[in-house]
Amino acid sequence: MPRAPLDWIDGELGRLAEAGLRRSLEPLASAQGPVVTVGGRTLVNLCSNDYLGLAGDPRLRAAAAAAAEAEGAGAGASRLVAGDLAVHGRLEAAIASLHRAEAALLFNSGYHANAGVPAALVGRDDEIFSDVLNHASIVDGALLSRATFTRYRHGDAQELSDLLSRSRARRKLVITDAVFSMDGDAAPLAEIAGLCDRHGAMLYVDEAHAVGVLGPTGAGLAEAVGVKDRVDVEMGTLGKALGAFGAYVAGEARLRDLLVSRARSFVFTTALPPAACGAALAALAVVRDDPARRARLHALMARMKAGLTARGFDVAAVVSPIFPVVLGTEARALAAAAALRERGFFVRAIRPPTVPRGTSRLRVALTAGHDEGQVDGFLEALDEAVAGLAEA
Ligand code: PMP
Repeated sequence: MPRAPLDWIDGELGRLAEAGLRRSLEPLASAQGPVVTVGGRTLVNLCSNDYLGLAGDPRLRAAAAAAAEAEGAGAGASRLVAGDLAVHGRLEAAIASLHRAEAALLFNSGYHANAGVPAALVGRDDEIFSDVLNHASIVDGALLSRATFTRYRHGDAQELSDLLSRSRARRKLVITDAVFSMDGDAAPLAEIAGLCDRHGAMLYVDEAHAVGVLGPTGAGLAEAVGVKDRVDVEMGTLGKALGAFGAYVAGEARLRDLLVSRARSFVFTTALPPAACGAALAALAVVRDDPARRARLHALMARMKAGLTARGFDVAAVVSPIFPVVLGTEARALAAAAALRERGFFVRAIRPPTVPRGTSRLRVALTAGHDEGQVDGFLEALDEAVAGLAEA
């Protein structure tokens, strides 16, 4: 029976629907992979973050099962109480090794890491400098820290420089996505690292969409541009290219020590389950031992980039498997997604507040599990979908 105190929700849902902003779930009837079953149809999946195609990999599945068998289905407690299992330590050592860092600390997701780490580093007397397109979890973590929250224009190192010069804060913390989640472009990390050095600011880089994808060993953007030693807080996720679940911060041992005591999203939550950690360990082994998989993804990225560029979409800045096909209004993005689905491609419309108003888009994401034929087929289907919009 609907309860009267919740009746206001009907109006709210109606307003969201009218604005084209109501969201809905799309249950998959298959495992995650380059091809999925949705709504009774088999579709080429171009909207996961499974960039290396590892989420459904038999090696990760077996490692998840083995870890659950050995250490249990759940951790049973927070790390600081009775939940600090052997698999957590093994995984942190493997992450530290990937990033050539002194130490790493697991978080339950990228959202948890970004929501909790800033408050452990800065407070009321301090200032956070954040790219306007940083992920929502960074915004939430910055607000929770109570530090002054200053945003700079997307990728604008000059504005960041001016803001840092003017700041009188006790501690300064610059936070940027490495690869931006809805645009696929990269932060000007070498310039930002230089500014942080000059101003004595801490540098926090969210490598969520870069780990496993960029850099000679797949360690991310900081590795790719040669500034690994100048990043103070390197955050990454295990749920995207690494095909598992969870996240981490890599850096100095004393940073880890502080986070263990101070990061509320680490302290006050149950530790990651062994299965997720086992899968992540298997994924890190693939990243280390199978660079060809990364190379294959990059070949597909080049093909997609050339195809979209030829069609007039602005993807010049893209350095990742994420391609923004910006269509403008919510209605256009939704119509294009529907037309693509008719043609066998699963790509979801991304709308405000995930992206700025007027830039609703398809976020097309590739994985190493796709093939050239699927990329070409998508580009042809996109032509038809976009032609249909022009007529509408
Ligand atoms: N940072 C960025 C840049 C992201 O895009 C995301 C997820 N979309 C996250 C953090 C959150 O990571 P997780 O999914 O592990 O919570």
